[in-house]
Amino acid sequence: MARWLKTSISASDKADADTKVRGIVEGLLADIAARGDAAVREMSVRFDKWDRADYRLTDAEIKSCLDQLTGQDLEDIRFAQAQVRNFAEHQKAAIRDIEVETLPGVVLGHKNLPVNSVGCYVPGGKYPLLASAHMSVVTAKVAGVPRIVTCAPPFEGKPAPAIVAAQHLAGADVIYCLGGVQAVGAMALGTESIAAVDMLVGPGNAFVAEAKRQLYGRVGIDLFAGPTETLVIADETVDAEICATDLLGQAEHGPTSPAILLTTSEKLARETMAEVERLLTILPTAGVARQSWADYGEVILCDSLEEMVAEADRIASEHVQVMTRDDEYFLKHMTNYGALFLGPRTNVSYGDKVIGTNHTLPTQKAARYTGGLWVGKFLKTVTYQRVLTDEASAMIGEACSRLCMLEGFAGHAEQANIRVRRYGGRNIPY
Ligand code: NAD
Repeated sequence: MARWLKTSISASDKADADTKVRGIVEGLLADIAARGDAAVREMSVRFDKWDRADYRLTDAEIKSCLDQLTGQDLEDIRFAQAQVRNFAEHQKAAIRDIEVETLPGVVLGHKNLPVNSVGCYVPGGKYPLLASAHMSVVTAKVAGVPRIVTCAPPFEGKPAPAIVAAQHLAGADVIYCLGGVQAVGAMALGTESIAAVDMLVGPGNAFVAEAKRQLYGRVGIDLFAGPTETLVIADETVDAEICATDLLGQAEHGPTSPAILLTTSEKLARETMAEVERLLTILPTAGVARQSWADYGEVILCDSLEEMVAEADRIASEHVQVMTRDDEYFLKHMTNYGALFLGPRTNVSYGDKVIGTNHTLPTQKAARYTGGLWVGKFLKTVTYQRVLTDEASAMIGEACSRLCMLEGFAGHAEQANIRVRRYGGRNIPY
């Protein structure tokens, strides 16, 4: 039976925090819907101390951001974007349009069409998270989205040069320096100065993720991608230093980011807890990481690989780092995760920043029903059909007519009946 050596705060405390965020976001979105630009500007001043008449960055501002980066910075951004683009292109190549004859004379097909416009949110409240620009803008480009708008908050009172450079190099058509609910609300609802998009994508804090959730329906969204979560699955084949490093590397994201260790080794569990305390005395971002580890960190001791898989699937974490004597077992058996990192040679940070898989991933157990952002999320799979012969139309029509009447739909039935009469020469009364 799984045994907790360290627990997090209670589920009801976590739920209370979510309820508070829900109420705040609801009010902010209603205000944007009612007052447009004026509300957006007030919120930008209130939350980010950032006031402009127009939040769209000019070409000169974009160039100035690029000029502030070193040649190495730009090369690294280009390298990361090339990896994301390359993998996305391979994924796209695996997506196929189909057209098949399912019955004699009956042809059915589907096509994958890119969404016409997307709004890519790039988070930047606590850190200038430029990698999110690669993940959403580059991937939308590969999907063939014609209009790509992107927003990121100001960082330390101005546009973050590295984010703007990444947004621009990724190929965004329009860049706004605007953060939080005001950014996703404006992109989804449209204002006097910001044209509405068809779909919102990208990660963000609890406010951004909740705003996207509430806007779903009005626009499409990629997935629920809120505060980062990580799960480390390890056994005695690795040491406490690497486990503690991988836990804190993600705990530094924010005070509500869960970092959980799942292990069959009590020795490793206890050594990792001690190592976390040691690293917290030297990590520059320890302020945030200490709080998230205290409130959301967990250490769970399991008896077997099977039990670790069951626990991991229950947790359904965004990231899962596996470092055991049989990593492939987890790839084979786990079903709920955003991304798996197999073996100690890779880690979540590689995936977050550069290796090429997408870092926009499901949180709060959304991994039970969705994977992360990928080129397919920007595509709509639409169907079409043709009936090529009179015989096929009359044959389908007769079955359709009977099925319509089982549902009580006389009008639907008549759509079928008229075709049975015309193409099959048979009369079907109401
Ligand atoms: P952010 O850009 O998501 O949020 C900053 C904005 O939040 C600000 O512009 C402000 O407008 C708004 N805000 C702050 N306090 C507010 C309040 N009290 N009320 C209303 N709005 C408020 O940047 P961040 O805060 O640094 O968060 C980034 C998040 O993205 C982190 O939680 C990180 O873990 C997460 N993330 C998730 C994934 C994923 O795929 N799930 C990937 C990367 C990052």
